[in-house]
Amino acid sequence: MIDFRSDTVTQPTAAMRSAIANAVVGDDVYGDDPTVNRLEAMAAERFGFDGALFTSSGTQANLLALMSHCERGDEYICGQQAHNYKFEGGGAAVLGSIQPQPLSNQNDGSILLSDIEAAIKPDDIHFARTRLLSLENTIGGKVLSQQYLAEAQSLAFNRGLKIHLDGARVANAAVAQSIEVSDITQYFDSVSICLSKGLCAPVGSLLLGDERLIHRARRWRKMLGGGMRQAGMLAAAAEIALTEQVERLAVDHDNARYLAEQLSLLAEFEVDLTAVQTNMLFAKVADNVDIKAIATALKQQGILISPGTTVRLVTHADINRADVDTFIKALKALL
Ligand SMILES: *Cc1c(COP(=O)(O)O)cnc(C)c1O
Repeated sequence: MIDFRSDTVTQPTAAMRSAIANAVVGDDVYGDDPTVNRLEAMAAERFGFDGALFTSSGTQANLLALMSHCERGDEYICGQQAHNYKFEGGGAAVLGSIQPQPLSNQNDGSILLSDIEAAIKPDDIHFARTRLLSLENTIGGKVLSQQYLAEAQSLAFNRGLKIHLDGARVANAAVAQSIEVSDITQYFDSVSICLSKGLCAPVGSLLLGDERLIHRARRWRKMLGGGMRQAGMLAAAAEIALTEQVERLAVDHDNARYLAEQLSLLAEFEVDLTAVQTNMLFAKVADNVDIKAIATALKQQGILISPGTTVRLVTHADINRADVDTFIKALKALL
C-alpha cells in the first residue's frame, strides 16, 4: 500500500525491530526498566529539560502536561485548530476539569499575541484562572517562526503563564529550518513529541519538562492507566526514532513539495505551495470531481487517501519519489 493518509502509518524500521527483540527490560512502574530510563535521560539531555516521561501516545503526553500545569478551575489558551483542543476528545475538560480558551489560528498557524493578551482573564471570582498558553509546531504542516515563539514566551512569562508546546511534529519543524529541536523547545516549559509519526517508532511519545512537572505527570500517567511495565520493548524503538530518523525527515519534506507541485499542475486540484513547509499538504478539490469514487478506485490500485473537499496528503518514510509518481499517474488516469 502507498498510504498518504498520515505519517502515523509508518512501519518500524529493521533497526527498531532488532532493538525491540534485544531490549533489556524491567518493570517501568518501579522505575526498573533500563531502556526506558536511558530513553528518558537521553531525551531530557538532548532537548534541554530536567526530565522526560515516555507515554503511550501524544494525546496522553498533552493531557498529562495540561493536568500537571493546571488545576481544577484553571484554563489553557490554545488555537481553535489545536490538536489538544479539537482532536483529543475534550480530555482536559473531561478528565482534568480544565477549561480550554480557544482562539483563532491565523493562516500561518500562529495565534495573534494581541488575541492572547486580550483572552487572559483578570484575577476575579467570575473567571477561570488562566494558567497556560499552549502552542503547536508544526501546525497543519506549517512551521511557527522562531521569532514568534520568542515573543509568545515573553508574553507568557510577563503575564505569569506557563507555556506548553504540542510538538507532535517538532522534529519536522526543526529539520525544515535546519536548526536543532532544542532551538525550538528552549522557549517552552513543557513539550510533547510524537515518536510514532514521521520518526517511525511503533508506539510512544515523550513529555519534557522540569522535575516538578514530570513528577506530577508521572502520577497522572499512572492514574490514567498509562504506567506500562516492560515498556523498554517500546522505548528501544523510540530511542532509534530520535537517533536515526530525525534528519531523514528532510526527504519527506522534499517529497511533499514534489507531490504538491505535481498536484498543482492538475486543474482539478488547488494547492497553496507556500503552505507546504514540511511533510503535509492540503489540496482543494474542484466541485465537479467525485473524490470519494476516486479514493475507492485508488484503493483498488493500492493507494490510500482520505477523501474530502480538501484532501490532506502526508509523506513519510514508507513513501518514496517513485510512489508519488505512481499516485500522480493513477490519479491522472482516473480524472
Ligand atoms: C498526532 C498528534 C497528536 C496526538 O498523538 P497520538 O499519538 O495520535 O495520540 C497530538 N498533537 C498533534 C499536533 C498531532 O498531530
